[in-house]
Amino acid sequence: MKVLKFGGSSVAKPERIEGVVRILRQYYQRGDKFAVVFSAFGGVTDSLIEMGNLAADGNERYHDLFQQFSQRHIDAATALLKGEYLDRVLPELQTNHEVLGNLLYGVFLVREVSPRTLDYILSFGERNAAFIISHVMRQAGIHAAFLDARKIIKTDKSFGNAKVDFEQTNALIKEYFLQNPEIQVVTGFVGAAKGGLTTTLGRGGSDYTAAILGAGLDASAIEIWTDVDGVMTADPRNVKKAFSLSQMTYAEAMEMSPFGAKVIYPPTIQPALAKRFRFILKIRLTPNLKARLYRIKPTPEAMR
Ligand code: ADP
Ligand code: ASP
Ligand code: MG
Repeated sequence: MKVLKFGGSSVAKPERIEGVVRILRQYYQRGDKFAVVFSAFGGVTDSLIEMGNLAADGNERYHDLFQQFSQRHIDAATALLKGEYLDRVLPELQTNHEVLGNLLYGVFLVREVSPRTLDYILSFGERNAAFIISHVMRQAGIHAAFLDARKIIKTDKSFGNAKVDFEQTNALIKEYFLQNPEIQVVTGFVGAAKGGLTTTLGRGGSDYTAAILGAGLDASAIEIWTDVDGVMTADPRNVKKAFSLSQMTYAEAMEMSPFGAKVIYPPTIQPALAKRFRFILKIRLTPNLKARLYRIKPTPEAMR
């Protein structure tokens, strides 16, 4: 079993989603067992935060952003899906959009957005994305099912940066995957606290979702697919001369994280270390969809 994760950059546009699904179909046809985690479409989480803040400020412009959010997902579904698959997805999106619209209107009325409400608002990004993509996968002949991670990832109530209850979570993951043999298409970033309250795992937290699943499933590897050449010496957006590291240790990956390397969400490393995965891969999704592999290896000193 492997856990794959595709970030917002990999699913920002319908063409990119088609490319991702082509890759997943190859895995599927090879008979590889895997689960796949998706982030919200690129830019969506930022936009949801802005909507929440605008609504709390009593600024009606939140509504334009909300409309753009709804339209973007409907357009993506319409571009990617046909017939029965589209018929199944559109009503679900409509329901999501109705709830989100009501939620934002509530925030607008009371002029306040709590971290708790914001987490619920943010969850719509990942839920819409994974739901749509699960149907694109099914349409492509993959026996896939949508999995809302709130069912399996249980956290405390530190909204915005919730801590995972691994004991409960690991048990739920094992149980769920035993009962549901389809390829699970999982929402990144979100979890649930007691009482079913929606929480989020911190910005960039979909990487962490993949590691949590990997740990719970005793996966042989986690593959984190993204838009750059793996882990680099610096952020290539800021440093022209940044180059890719052909491999790095978990210890080094952890050392980089506090310096703001967005490349891997820091807590991701922890479950991987505990379970001694052979490696986490950072894979670039090139425009022609050829993947290049970069390894992060657990070394003996990282295991201590
Ligand atoms: P995804 O959407 O796949 O989660 P992110 O945008 O979260 O991708 O992270 C990938 C981005 O991280 C890259 O586009 C790159 O600009 C940035 N980044 C920051 N530090 C590094 C680094 N050391 N190595 C590689 N990429 C980095
Ligand atoms: N969508 C969330 C964010 O933008 C989680 C993630 O992308 O990993 O922070
Ligand atoms: Mg990310």
